[in-house]
Amino acid sequence: MNTKQTKYTAKHFSNEFPNDDACLEWLKNYRFPDGIECPTCKKTTKHYKIAKRPCYKCDLCGHEIYPTAGTIFHKSTTPLTTWFEAMFWMATTRSGHSAKELQRRTGVTYKTAWRMFKQIRTLLDESEGILRNEVEVDETYIGGKHHGKRGRGAEGKTAVIGIAQRQGKVTTNVVTNAKRSTVMPLINANVAKKTIVYTDEYPIYDTLDANGFDHKRCNHGAGEYVIGDAHTNTIEGFWSLVKRGIGGVYHAVSPKYLQSYLNEYQFRYNHRLEEQPMFLTVLNQIR
Ligand SMILES: [Zn+2]
Repeated sequence: MNTKQTKYTAKHFSNEFPNDDACLEWLKNYRFPDGIECPTCKKTTKHYKIAKRPCYKCDLCGHEIYPTAGTIFHKSTTPLTTWFEAMFWMATTRSGHSAKELQRRTGVTYKTAWRMFKQIRTLLDESEGILRNEVEVDETYIGGKHHGKRGRGAEGKTAVIGIAQRQGKVTTNVVTNAKRSTVMPLINANVAKKTIVYTDEYPIYDTLDANGFDHKRCNHGAGEYVIGDAHTNTIEGFWSLVKRGIGGVYHAVSPKYLQSYLNEYQFRYNHRLEEQPMFLTVLNQIR
């Protein structure tokens, strides 16, 4: 995977966010870039940080503002620095980190680490927009004893449909089955008409042309070499990234949480070519 990203190292991180006050200050400036408009004074007033509490006070009337309000950090007893560190860490990986590793690294309990990652993943759920030009669609099964295609011995496996634009973004959907009636609406909703759509020979894709796409099949099941553009290497590369990560780092992911894990991989993949360091992209997802 090519990356143009400016390197944002652990050293950058610890210089910029050495303590909770620095994290809170960042959050305040991020949420109130033009200064804080005091709801009591009805104008932008000077606010100062209150010692030992995560809030800022209006210089004129004393009204208090909590920059964490409405964010995943609010009312958390975990220090903001630990939250930021977890986000930094999540952003600086391709294969993912486990809650166990976060526990070891930061000293929070396993339960807290697990909850933090779960909360951070909610920030990484974003719409990929409509995919176009050249798109690859593939279905896979994740979980159970062996990840694989089409759930041969599908017990314990969860079906996932992946759609990837070449040199572009990928979007994944956890589905209850990989039937045509499930797959086609997803393609219709995520891919522009007339797009060249590459799939394998599975019959669920038989109606792509009838749905207004330019369908091209590749027959790699028969052990043929890839001829020209007829391949699904993009989406398959993404699957192997996910499966390496989920298999090696997260071990077992329950179907209930699989989409949020996929969102995490998707987010990193979809922002891989941006110049802004990934960590700052994650930070900017705070709402
Ligand atoms: Zn005020």
